[in-house]
Amino acid sequence: MRTERLQPLSLPRGRRLFCELCLGPAHVRCGGCGVTFYCETDHQSADWVSVHEKICQLLIPLRTASPFYNSEKERKHGVEQKIRRETFLAGLTHTIAQNYLFEGKHEDAIPAALHSLKFSISVHGSDSVELVPQYLILAEASLGLGHISQGEEYLSQALWIVLKNPSCSHTIQSKLHRNVGLLHAAKGNFEDALYHLANDIYFASCAFGPHSLAASGGYFHMGNVFFRQNRADVAKSLYAEVVDIWHGHFTRLINQRYEAMMNPKVIDIFSREPEPIEETPDEQERSDASKMLNAILEVEEQSGKPQPAKVAKAALALAMLHFLVQDLPKSQELVTKVRQIRKRLPKAEPDVALHRLVELLKYKQS
Ligand SMILES: [Zn+2]
Ligand SMILES: [Zn+2]
Repeated sequence: MRTERLQPLSLPRGRRLFCELCLGPAHVRCGGCGVTFYCETDHQSADWVSVHEKICQLLIPLRTASPFYNSEKERKHGVEQKIRRETFLAGLTHTIAQNYLFEGKHEDAIPAALHSLKFSISVHGSDSVELVPQYLILAEASLGLGHISQGEEYLSQALWIVLKNPSCSHTIQSKLHRNVGLLHAAKGNFEDALYHLANDIYFASCAFGPHSLAASGGYFHMGNVFFRQNRADVAKSLYAEVVDIWHGHFTRLINQRYEAMMNPKVIDIFSREPEPIEETPDEQERSDASKMLNAILEVEEQSGKPQPAKVAKAALALAMLHFLVQDLPKSQELVTKVRQIRKRLPKAEPDVALHRLVELLKYKQS
């Protein structure tokens, strides 16, 4: 990271420069691109760590003054190119911010999400539904840091846009309700939290079906709210729904791997058939499943009367996840745990998913 301190008198008269993060008056400039300004070095380094290092050079063409255009055609081309660059940067910074959230790095997510918001506003205008995902990331990160009022502010921006665009997608409505529900939960307004989380499940079900991965988050967070209200029975039945969803999903992927192992495809170089692609959990699935299943396992194991069948099912779902993301030792460790728990069950039916996972592990390890 290179820093240049600004000499106030060297600036063109009347030109004021603002900090990239807080919009306060700028006193330093990034020495890498020369087009990005900050109030002080602490905001520069926060931005650098989060996102600036990855986009420093990409900002130069966007922020250097437009050249003089000779014709209307050139001008139009220049505008189109600016929109293309901003659209690209909005997407890139959005992905970076989202990945920080997956990793639980709330502090790093914020500068990247602010950039994504800025580029999206420039491309789509300030009340477009395209901005809702960015406001939701900012809200989630702020709530994660315990900055409740800041999170509330971002959520009300998102809410306002959605109210003005009633046709916006079920997916967005579901995410919005989830975040509003989490905000109420953080403030201890449990009734409001449950209302919004139920809406989250409703919209996620409209978009993807009632037992979809998208609905699992709503059930999980509702379970947490009931748990905090000392209603462990309701909480556990909601957690069971979450475990069913992930267990079902990973069983389907494990079955695919098992079929492929049992019927290996002879590779025919003359065949025009594309090779089947193995479905692997993406970043969001990994992060969601591991957060929810680990939390549920912990609750089950620490509760006064753990239910072995439920613990085994949650642990098996996690074991399948670890296998699918190639973490074989962790998968093996969980399989051993599932088997030990099952020994204590009075009448344990043979478990096809467990059997197939064990066979796959043997095959991979041989
Ligand atoms: Zn600043
Ligand atoms: Zn720079």
